[in-house]
Amino acid sequence: MSFGLPSSDPPPPPDTDPVTTADVDAPPQAPPPTTINPLALRLNGPAADVTLSEPLDLAPPVGWVEDPDQPMEDVHHLSDPRLSKGDYLMPRPRRLRPNPLKYGSMRTGICYDVRMRFHATVDEDDMHPEDPRRILEIYKAICDAGLVDDPMYTGVVKRDDLMIGIRARLVTMEEALLVHTREHWDFLSSTVALEHEQLQELTRDGDSVYFNGESFFCSKLSCGGAIETCDAVVSGKVKNAIAVIRPPGHHAEPHKAMGFCLFNNVCVATKVMQKKYPDKCKKVLILDWDVHHGNGTQTAFYDDPSVLYMSIHRYSGGKFYPEGPQGNYDHCGVGDGVGMNVNVPWASGGMGDGDYMYAFQRVIMPIAMEFDPDLVIVSAGFDAAAGDTLGGCFVTPAGYAHMTHMLMALADGKVVVCLEGGYNLQSISNSALAVTKVLMGEPPGKLHDGHVACKSAVEVVHTCVIKQSNYWRCMRPRDIIPEEHYEEKQFLKAIKLNDMVRIYQAKNLWDKYRMSVLPIYRDRISESFTFQVIARSDFFTKETIVFFVHDPYAPMLDAGVTYVDWAISKDYGFVDANIPHRLSGIENDGYDAQKQTEELCIYLWDNYLDVSEAKNIFLIGVGDAVLGLINLLVNRDCRDKVRGVVSFLGENHTLRAVVPPVANEYLTEWYYHNSRILISHAHSVWSRPKLPRKKFGALVKSKGLDVHEIMLVERDMITQWIEEQMPVPTAEEEVAEK
Ligand SMILES: [Zn+2]
Repeated sequence: MSFGLPSSDPPPPPDTDPVTTADVDAPPQAPPPTTINPLALRLNGPAADVTLSEPLDLAPPVGWVEDPDQPMEDVHHLSDPRLSKGDYLMPRPRRLRPNPLKYGSMRTGICYDVRMRFHATVDEDDMHPEDPRRILEIYKAICDAGLVDDPMYTGVVKRDDLMIGIRARLVTMEEALLVHTREHWDFLSSTVALEHEQLQELTRDGDSVYFNGESFFCSKLSCGGAIETCDAVVSGKVKNAIAVIRPPGHHAEPHKAMGFCLFNNVCVATKVMQKKYPDKCKKVLILDWDVHHGNGTQTAFYDDPSVLYMSIHRYSGGKFYPEGPQGNYDHCGVGDGVGMNVNVPWASGGMGDGDYMYAFQRVIMPIAMEFDPDLVIVSAGFDAAAGDTLGGCFVTPAGYAHMTHMLMALADGKVVVCLEGGYNLQSISNSALAVTKVLMGEPPGKLHDGHVACKSAVEVVHTCVIKQSNYWRCMRPRDIIPEEHYEEKQFLKAIKLNDMVRIYQAKNLWDKYRMSVLPIYRDRISESFTFQVIARSDFFTKETIVFFVHDPYAPMLDAGVTYVDWAISKDYGFVDANIPHRLSGIENDGYDAQKQTEELCIYLWDNYLDVSEAKNIFLIGVGDAVLGLINLLVNRDCRDKVRGVVSFLGENHTLRAVVPPVANEYLTEWYYHNSRILISHAHSVWSRPKLPRKKFGALVKSKGLDVHEIMLVERDMITQWIEEQMPVPTAEEEVAEK
């Protein structure tokens, strides 16, 4: 059967524009003094010399509220006789006063049009998940909850209802071409004239799209609905709004329909708003919580610095629809738009409220607040909802409500929620209803498991934080942890974070490699360091040891782990030292990360590395922690065991030179021939007329930008270099070996 039969539907909405509220964006003006105060008339009756030729509108003007005097006898404390003896009470004339809650007293808009259900599969018995009933079920849930009084579910909302109805219209070709190609428009319009068999064929050959004779009309109406909904919010007719529209849009590419999407509704609406209201829409945030990556939206704004696209979606190694690498965390935009594309790619299904809250609190909201948009559009698919078998995730209605609530803190509350996917009729209705209630001002419901993110989600989010720290200040740990003049409270928070990261890393390394904490017994080195050094338990007996030193945010998460993998596969020993920015507890007085790094490296050398059985030791340093290695080379003669020194430096890290207390040309020469200093291509050293001297080591310009990226892209080169640095066994040793 077809769910979109026109004959069974209520009539389309009338032509009158149901949006009637005056533009209240401008501050309310006091009524001119000559105007008869309508309230005075109502309360006291018309004065004798006033002739009423027209019925009076008794409601106060927009932006004003009634201020009736309260009868004295209702207020008992005012009968206190002492009040009459002094100047305690000040009479105030009865009048109107400005409405102090402009946003709070505005209403939420809703866009729904029954005709969007005409788009259906051409084969009546083909049950497609993008079912025309989806929008009806959502709209019904909103009506049945009493938010809209519309017994026939026509989409026509009464003027005095709790919500304001927004009428959808057809997108014009000119508007659609702001995003799409002319060929795409012509292709969609050509489907109107196709025969049944041709439509079947088109559906078979398409990339997860179907067509009938009404598809072009419905997709224009859906897109126009998104535009009108955004317009109502931007122009101030409503405070925020939900567009219950279909077909969805976020997979539609500029030149191609795919993934149930014909026109990219949200992209076209964004472009139209930016054109019509250039000053009110300088910066637009599109937040996409559909379980699928919005490839079309990413494409449309990939090089656009005025639109920040953020998507949380299931990626599953690039195997989840729409498949391919473009939904991964490392797709961050190009040209002027670099940094304006943020993907949070879940590694698997099964994500729930806790994971979404974690992503929102750690990545989405900090970046969104730094971006500071003028308008927020939500690509709201409800296919990550519990009950949606296609998405395989477990977000509850309360989870969606909380995400909406957080987004409402942005853009002066100008939030437009546009429906995308979501295929379980019950789940999408409950979720969309919860979102609508929050838009209207209700608090989001309680989350049951909303505070716990799973291990996989934590990993993904941390990878995103590291990647995004290239583009957003709020993602940089240096900015989160105050370097100086911190207050005790902030400082303890920072410490906790630092320890948490290490505990997490330690657990991972133990799970995977049976690496465990290395004891540090030394008065001068803080107790907290005990926990910061991890080693493979048998490193002591290995012929080759890799000593890895880094600060907490570097990169034990994925880049670092690839080095551990390599070392273990070569049967090398591995020692990993983490240098905290700050330490736990009271011992921070006088804590100096630089000095502690230096002392820790020397301590580890004296107590573990130098006395081990290793013949070959490699030192690898990341970022500021490199200083510890330099200090070690200067203060201990390690040259008979250390075969190579590798450093990874991001664009803002300082280059360090080996400068021994007594000038030692041999050390400088040795360092130059036995080091690889990999430096971000964006580092200022590359713009100097002359490269630094040999005491800075052998500098290599890396294609990577930050240390994380450098470690990843240079891994093969560096591991190969290390292997080549191994001494060739002498003839004597080879004989001994036999
Ligand atoms: Zn989807």
